[in-house]
Amino acid sequence: MSTTIDHWIAGAATAGTSTRTQPVWDPALGTTEKDVRLASAADVDTAVAAALAAFPDWRDSSWARRQGVLFTFRELLNARKQDLAENLTAEHGKVLSDALGEIARGLEVVEFALAMPHLAKGDYSENVSTGVDTYSLRQPLGVVGVISPFNFPAMVPLWFVPIAIATGNTVVLKPSEKDPSASVWLARLFTEAGLPDGVLNVVHGDKEAVDALLIHPDVQSISFVGSTPIARYVYETGTAAGKRVQALGGAKNHMLVLPDADLDLAADSAVNAGFGSAGERCMAISVVLAVETVADALVEKIAERMAGLTTGDGRRSCDMGPLITKQHRDKVASYIDVASADGATVVVDGRTVVPDGAADGFWLGPTLVDRVPLDSSVYTDEIFGPVLSVVRVAGYDEGLDIINRSRYGNGTAIFTNDGGAARRFQREVHVGMIGINVPIPVPVAHYSFGGWKESLFGDTKAYGPQGVHFFTREKAVTSRWLDPSHGGINLGFPRNG
Ligand code: NAD
Repeated sequence: MSTTIDHWIAGAATAGTSTRTQPVWDPALGTTEKDVRLASAADVDTAVAAALAAFPDWRDSSWARRQGVLFTFRELLNARKQDLAENLTAEHGKVLSDALGEIARGLEVVEFALAMPHLAKGDYSENVSTGVDTYSLRQPLGVVGVISPFNFPAMVPLWFVPIAIATGNTVVLKPSEKDPSASVWLARLFTEAGLPDGVLNVVHGDKEAVDALLIHPDVQSISFVGSTPIARYVYETGTAAGKRVQALGGAKNHMLVLPDADLDLAADSAVNAGFGSAGERCMAISVVLAVETVADALVEKIAERMAGLTTGDGRRSCDMGPLITKQHRDKVASYIDVASADGATVVVDGRTVVPDGAADGFWLGPTLVDRVPLDSSVYTDEIFGPVLSVVRVAGYDEGLDIINRSRYGNGTAIFTNDGGAARRFQREVHVGMIGINVPIPVPVAHYSFGGWKESLFGDTKAYGPQGVHFFTREKAVTSRWLDPSHGGINLGFPRNG
């Protein structure tokens, strides 16, 4: 019998008014026993109204009250993370250890938000003019919208929600309809931790729900994470409706391997970053730029390591799980034929994988394609699956030029033992997050996460100091308290004196 996943509005599960639903798959089994409601615009209205009603009390709560809820939430999440991880594996397919890793990175942001009384402090300058002081305050925006992708069903909501609520906002979260349970799981836990009803609401849905949020007059901001075309659309629609928008988009991340690199470290890193979570990470390495003199040796080492990887059901002890849907698996697999047709060499073909899992799971094994031409769609498209491309380059300059010509600028890495080359790379590369002998350079929570170019629309990254900035508005106050030495009438423009 099928279970229906409800919205979470004003502290309770609710069916809403829409009659539309969509199946939620277990990708390792290839079966569906759940479906999710797809909100109508009226359901989004109900969630926004709940968030708006909860805002004044939450905004006016003391820091101590807000921090108390977050602290309890942190403890509960840490204690129950295994349950959440199992939920992630069942709907997304990633292996359990990877699901626990995702939760750990989300917990980091909760811990960062626990420092909010310090992080959101303003400044104070005494005597900017005689007897006059200036100070700044940071205040919440109001109701904020968060729209998240399928690939991190817990971590991406946790990039935004803890910071938004710690700073006094109320939230409407629209998770991916492909793996929607984690968001409701988190919202229930927040309620158990003492979060007042209406401060965090979850509406499930597709374009209809997203569009309703983007133009809703009571929604002040949108934090979006997803593919580039949708990120661009969300940014353009949300800003045209007068909202503050940060829209994080897709990626094609390059790893440049110089001849002096430790090739074993580079090969380990390429495999870990290329095939972890079946390549469904926005910080996955999808292109290895190998300098020709070491390319044969590097490709051989990568292929050797791939031979030891196991693909299968994430609840078993496997390295890599299935892809999110059958359609996505078929699309990713189709690039292997494109690679051959475009003159690349298929070194390892993931279509021949023998999975440790059910016959109907959405399987594709790790795939390695060498000598990929830059005009092949295998290079230009974000494939978002376990297909690692190798592009051979003459040296540093050609590698850098290829990275800088990419439309994406999310993450990149250089592997070298030359500090000067690494330093040049960090200065010259047009990418927002850089690894030096580190393949997935996701910044820790007290820095901010975000790319350049078509990997981020808007000028504010996620979490860290920029997250605090995004979810607050600054006021500057100039004050004078009664003093017998006031200067009388002066129609000139105010200036210091
Ligand atoms: P997606 O763009 O298909 O969906 C993201 C969100 O947008 C979902 O909530 C979905 O319901 C909604 N959506 C889908 N189609 C829509 C439409 N036509 N109009 C309005 N809303 C729509 O992305 P996905 O497949 O869920 O996630 C994978 C993508 O996300 C990849 O491109 C990946 O690189 C990107 N991603 C980026 C980052 C980052 O930080 N830059 C992080 C994670 C994922």
